Amino acid sequence: MKQMLSKTCLMGAGLLFSSLCYASSPTPQLFSFEQRHSALQTKPAGYMRTLLGDPANKDVVLVDVKPALISNDTSTLAITLPDGKTATFNLETYSALPEGLEGWVGYKPSAVKSKSASELKFDPLYYLSIVRQGDQLVGEIMVDGQRYRLEYVSPGQHALVSIDEAKLAPLDALPEAKAVAAQVASVQPQATSEHSTIRLMFVTTQQSRAKYPNPRLTLNQALQDVNQTMKNSKVNITFELAGIYDANYDESGKEYSKLLNDVTYYMKDVAQARDGMLADLVSMIVVNNALCGGGKFGPSKAAGFTAVTCLSSLAHEIGHNFGMVHNSGGARTPSYIHGYRWNQGLLPFRTQMSYECTGRSCPRIAYFSNPRLSYAGVPMGTVKDNDVARALNERRSIVENFYPSPANAAKITLFEQSRFQGKRCEMYLQKGSVTPLKDSLCRSLTTSRSAKIENFQAGNTVCLRNTDDSRNRCFTGAYTGDFEINNFDLDSAWPGELKRSVKGWPMNGSVTQVTYEKAGDTFVRLYAQEDFKRPLCTVAIGEGKTVTLNTEGQCPSNVGRSRSAQVLGFDGSQVCFTNADAKRMHCYSGQYQGDFSIRNYDTSNLNLPKGLAATRSGYMNSNAYRISKGVE
Ligand SMILES: [Zn+2]
Repeated sequence: MKQMLSKTCLMGAGLLFSSLCYASSPTPQLFSFEQRHSALQTKPAGYMRTLLGDPANKDVVLVDVKPALISNDTSTLAITLPDGKTATFNLETYSALPEGLEGWVGYKPSAVKSKSASELKFDPLYYLSIVRQGDQLVGEIMVDGQRYRLEYVSPGQHALVSIDEAKLAPLDALPEAKAVAAQVASVQPQATSEHSTIRLMFVTTQQSRAKYPNPRLTLNQALQDVNQTMKNSKVNITFELAGIYDANYDESGKEYSKLLNDVTYYMKDVAQARDGMLADLVSMIVVNNALCGGGKFGPSKAAGFTAVTCLSSLAHEIGHNFGMVHNSGGARTPSYIHGYRWNQGLLPFRTQMSYECTGRSCPRIAYFSNPRLSYAGVPMGTVKDNDVARALNERRSIVENFYPSPANAAKITLFEQSRFQGKRCEMYLQKGSVTPLKDSLCRSLTTSRSAKIENFQAGNTVCLRNTDDSRNRCFTGAYTGDFEINNFDLDSAWPGELKRSVKGWPMNGSVTQVTYEKAGDTFVRLYAQEDFKRPLCTVAIGEGKTVTLNTEGQCPSNVGRSRSAQVLGFDGSQVCFTNADAKRMHCYSGQYQGDFSIRNYDTSNLNLPKGLAATRSGYMNSNAYRISKGVE
């Protein structure tokens, strides 16, 4: 009854007596110890058995969690440990994650009395990071430098595990590629955006899928820790979960270096899934306990791979993908790409890329080396040798651009049955490439009879083909946006501006690949009045071609009277409008790719997209007579 009362208080923020409740309620406790735990531990099974069998888990106790506390409405959370120690955490980051997951990260304010602006405002030895899916929680906890995991075990069952870091697998001992120094030297710092969103795809193996009761929850929590580490370190990167790909991969009998090499070079289905998810980086979650992880040295798209056993090493291994290295020693270019450790005084620590201290243990804190931050007056890096935060910021644009962002890519969702029924799969389409459907992301589909296409860009052609391309359905034309094909074998509706071509009949559910390629044409829609009123017609213009409007079959009406136009599928070339005697010419050119609008040929303020410029001589005054592309 007492428990129920306190819950009512928590939920009753809007009730009249809520202030009374808050006044008399202590900070809510995330979990309490379960009474039944001794009985269950005598016959451990499933994940509990895995937890108890791990030598790095020095103490495992069952707990009752309060999932509803993981919410944006909870500003403070307390925990009590088995030894009676308590800690209270203030909300630092709340995240509403895809698929209904929620993340809560809390810190304890620093007790250090320092006036330095660089001093951390949080105590880095205290950390609470929980992700929730329904009634299930997974979390990483640090109290006074001691690490704990909150693990979801089975329905209604959670465990608190205290970690003996000395018994974790070694950090990583994979040999650095010989070319690292040279490769790193060639990386030019660049940051074009204020903040980078980098998409990461997790890959699970047969073994890691079997290990975790809820891999999605566990992996979201691991990524939350990476994001918090970036934020703490003043690195302007947010990692976004591109997806989780379940590979049919058997780890057994394979050495760690083979796991990493396989995912990097040899798993074709992983490469296809990465393309289909536009995943800048790939991390294969494994169970091999010889190492905590391994990462290829970047930054390069080909080296954007890690293999990870200890999820707490994910940020470290991703650091390698950016070309970061362990502790100082040996010449590097630039010199500041090392982790940092401080092994003096009462508060030793190490940053993410650093090895353990020698002689005694120093807690690994959720920071990369950064001399502009300090902990108890000690700078957390050096300008010369230890400033991983700087190097990550200098390289984030490189990694961010391994793939285009989803906003700039077309996407296809394929359905097993007509009218969008049955199993489905979805993937982004790479321009100018053949996307196989059957091998990776769409392998669970036995047939494919309908599709939805999003973000189609005019000037391209999308084709759905069978394996030997003896049959296909292609769509192209002056259309930008989404469309649906509710049956590949029927003349069902699609946007009128799109033309369909058909090869072979029927398709009969046998689409196995999709191509998305530039069609070559740019389209110009002409309107009789400004602001795109009274449409006249649409003309298609190939590169190097000129269309004379009065004689053009595509525009049978008298169109020497347009006042506004939309250009669709512009591809970084040049489009020019000229009048009849060619004395007046308006040209639009630049690197921009996509659609743009000319709301009135003669207005001074067109608000053209970035990367596009207008050169106009004379007023067009509704006398556009010829349109050319790539020629003047
Ligand atoms: Zn390492």
